Amino acid sequence: MKVEGQCHCGQIAYTAEVDPAKVTLCHCVDCQILSGGPYIATVAANAGTFKLLYGEVHHYVKTAESGRKRLHGLCTICGTRLYAASSDEPRAYSLRTGPLKQRNDLKPSRRIWCDSAQAWSINLSDIEQVARQPG
Ligand SMILES: [Zn+2]
Ligand SMILES: [Zn+2]
Repeated sequence: MKVEGQCHCGQIAYTAEVDPAKVTLCHCVDCQILSGGPYIATVAANAGTFKLLYGEVHHYVKTAESGRKRLHGLCTICGTRLYAASSDEPRAYSLRTGPLKQRNDLKPSRRIWCDSAQAWSINLSDIEQVARQPG
């Protein structure tokens, strides 16, 4: 399936092909810190399909415990986090689903790093739901 992404301020746009059956939630501590939230949702871009249409992506280089380097792509104007990618070519992209226009069709099928999840974030069903910003 084709996805179209854009950062919040609109200076960056990109497209890719993804498998909607392979969306993952990550509860690792790095994702919590980097996202500012309890977890992130990502989907792998099929090999060779990521295309930057326009804009300038800043890469924050994160070194994993294994020593492997990951490039975290973000907009320096609005701060939107777009993807993480392998540092070696050809780059393998893991796209954040939030900036994608097709986000509502990308339901996660798996959660990883559950050992480091904030316990409450595993089950949200008993938390009050409000349709929009409460008045
Ligand atoms: Zn932006
Ligand atoms: Zn993570």
